[in-house]
Amino acid sequence: MKKYYICCDMEGIAGVSSFKEMEIQPAAVSKMMTAEVNALCDAINRNSRGETSRDVDILVADSHSTGMNIVHSELCENARLIRGFPRAYYMAPGMDPSFDAFFVAGHHARAGTPEAGMDHTFSGSAIFSVELNGREVGEFEINAGLAGHYKVPVAYVSGDDKFIEQVSVYKEQLGFETVVTKHAIARYSSVHRHPKRVFADINAAVEKTLEEKKWAGKFMAFEYPLKARITLTNTVKTDMAALIPVLKRTGGREISFEAPDFPYFYNMFCAITLICWNDK
Ligand SMILES: [Zn+2]
Repeated sequence: MKKYYICCDMEGIAGVSSFKEMEIQPAAVSKMMTAEVNALCDAINRNSRGETSRDVDILVADSHSTGMNIVHSELCENARLIRGFPRAYYMAPGMDPSFDAFFVAGHHARAGTPEAGMDHTFSGSAIFSVELNGREVGEFEINAGLAGHYKVPVAYVSGDDKFIEQVSVYKEQLGFETVVTKHAIARYSSVHRHPKRVFADINAAVEKTLEEKKWAGKFMAFEYPLKARITLTNTVKTDMAALIPVLKRTGGREISFEAPDFPYFYNMFCAITLICWNDK
């Protein structure tokens, strides 16, 4: 039995340019996200040699916003779906050492990346930037870091060109394949190819990554304890986050803390984001 984990966000999937689209045509956007996850599941099934789809277990985390985007009834049959919110380990709940590989789909560049589609880190209204052990990180590093804690390698990453450019610094070290789903020209504007072309690229990338397994034995590793520095979008957010006793206010908009390991950091970061989501 092979076990794969897919963490799918919305901003980096093919065909979507702006958060506004998700407001004005949520059903269409959900359909696009479902189709792209299915293209990935089908590619995994097709390229899992020696196994039938019955021998492949795929856990999909619907990781955009409140996790209620993917149309469950249309999802590939051997995929189990995590829906709903709030939840621990927000974008990758249930991650554990039993998974053979981690597929990061539909992701976007970190907060502050120029001309990148819908750039943000967890919450555009709460989080300005995140540093781990002195390195600026985004959702990719945060999710890959959680998987890395359990020694689960990243096999595949997809999103817009600016995001893929951003994560390419890890390509050699981690051995994953990438798919560019669209070309961002501004925060809320992208050039799109037909989804069929994108899905063909997804299949080719999955075929390569499952055949070559360049990621075998490689993980996103962070030195422990993790030193986290989070800059919030304004001072009132920091007033609220600083209520958590173990957090130190280290600037007007900045809080810092030390995490013994990645799961601790992950949920603390979720809690900070939730507290600071709304400043009313
Ligand atoms: Zn996101």
